[in-house]
Amino acid sequence: MSRKPEKATAEEKKQRQRKKKTKQTLTRAVTHIRLIEANPGKLDALDHLMVVYLALTQEYVTLFCQVETSPDKFAVPIFETKLSDRWHRVAIQQAAGIAKSWRTNRQNAYEAYLEALADYAEARAKAEASGVPLDPKRKEPEWREWKIPELRVSSIQANTNVVVVEQSEDSTFDFWLRISTLDKGNPLRVPVKLASYHKQTIAGRTLNTSTTLHKRKGIWWLTLSFDEDVPLQTAKDSSKVGVDVGIVHFITTSTNKEYGSFHGKMARQHKRDREKRRRKAKLRACLEKKGVPSGQLPSTSSATGQRLGRFVRQEINRAVNEMILDHPNAWIIYEELNVASMRFKARAMNSYLYASNLAHIPEQIAWATAKRGMAAHTVKAAYSSQECPRCHFVDRANRPNQQTFCCGVCGYTEQADRKAAHTLADRWGDTELAACRDQKAVKALLLKRHENWKQKNGLVVVQPAVQLGLWDLSQTSTDVAER
Ligand SMILES: [Zn+2]
Repeated sequence: MSRKPEKATAEEKKQRQRKKKTKQTLTRAVTHIRLIEANPGKLDALDHLMVVYLALTQEYVTLFCQVETSPDKFAVPIFETKLSDRWHRVAIQQAAGIAKSWRTNRQNAYEAYLEALADYAEARAKAEASGVPLDPKRKEPEWREWKIPELRVSSIQANTNVVVVEQSEDSTFDFWLRISTLDKGNPLRVPVKLASYHKQTIAGRTLNTSTTLHKRKGIWWLTLSFDEDVPLQTAKDSSKVGVDVGIVHFITTSTNKEYGSFHGKMARQHKRDREKRRRKAKLRACLEKKGVPSGQLPSTSSATGQRLGRFVRQEINRAVNEMILDHPNAWIIYEELNVASMRFKARAMNSYLYASNLAHIPEQIAWATAKRGMAAHTVKAAYSSQECPRCHFVDRANRPNQQTFCCGVCGYTEQADRKAAHTLADRWGDTELAACRDQKAVKALLLKRHENWKQKNGLVVVQPAVQLGLWDLSQTSTDVAER
């Protein structure tokens, strides 16, 4: 049915690039549109469809996560289903999207593991050679294989082949949704009524052809979307501002400013919440042993935890907006944040990372800058916290503690997060670094630059300060910002 789109010609690519410089296209979602059940049982057909659809999508997710080749949304259908060919394709496409992001995250985490393992082996060899025992707190990294994602939420990412939004002729409703069902040739027609704020948002817009349907607590919801072009406001010769993402401060800029923090009230609330959940889990286990039926056991899911997550995201939004208001005419350069690998490298801070929703920071930067037509770009973050900006020496010992960067070779010293922000800003336009395929390649490139620096400065091998025992290594194993 579907055909792979033809490859863009060089001319088309050029045109697209030229366009990119003058405007950015934002896709805005219109959420919380409730599907109205005009007569009872009308949406049953949708429920039946969902059961079959979810099972089929799960089959493809499992397949796409396990095979060698990368997930292909144009893959030839192979599973039996009651769904039409068109629905079958929609399921394959959705599964390919889910599998793709799962594979990327897993691969990043695995590479971070290999990196940590190499680091560990190096440190152990150093310790053996020097006779100074390795910090007992530092454990050999372990790899635990990731589970294949399980689809629990009833959600359909549909296109016009299966779900069509039609303008309503009479004034009672705004749209009709025509949904193909398991009963071929007998589509379901559901009226859609928009709230006034929905109407305001989409007035004069052309809606995208893709729609999302999902069911939560027995109610079906529709999400519509439209594209919006925002002209680029940032001048070409504007200054670059590097943005480092962290725990101590959500954001540190190369202009020496800090925004937002997970410490203080939020951290205390998080700790209380975690203890409460632990107590509940204990009680639950105890009651279970005594044979209390599972329906009567206390729930361990945490409403306060969800509230805290919302609060953290609000704080992040506020910090990002403040940062943007302070730098209205700048190019914002931030990192491709890899939460999976950060989580892996910083076991001790795991729950903090989870609670602080670090991944929300780059998302919010991307969104908030695009909305204002500001130029914002991501760069590779590998070793941005360990690399010396002067001589390019990379070593975890360049971070004797959370706050300090101090190069073990040339002695360059700066506040650690600000240094990382500088390094990120410098990496924009560094095509050699951008071309590196993985962390290993980045490290090799930085090592090469360090060697060049040494030759230029007429230096022979200098003993890094760490080997002379000048730094206390005990803190570096729980160093959150290691990337
Ligand atoms: Zn240095």
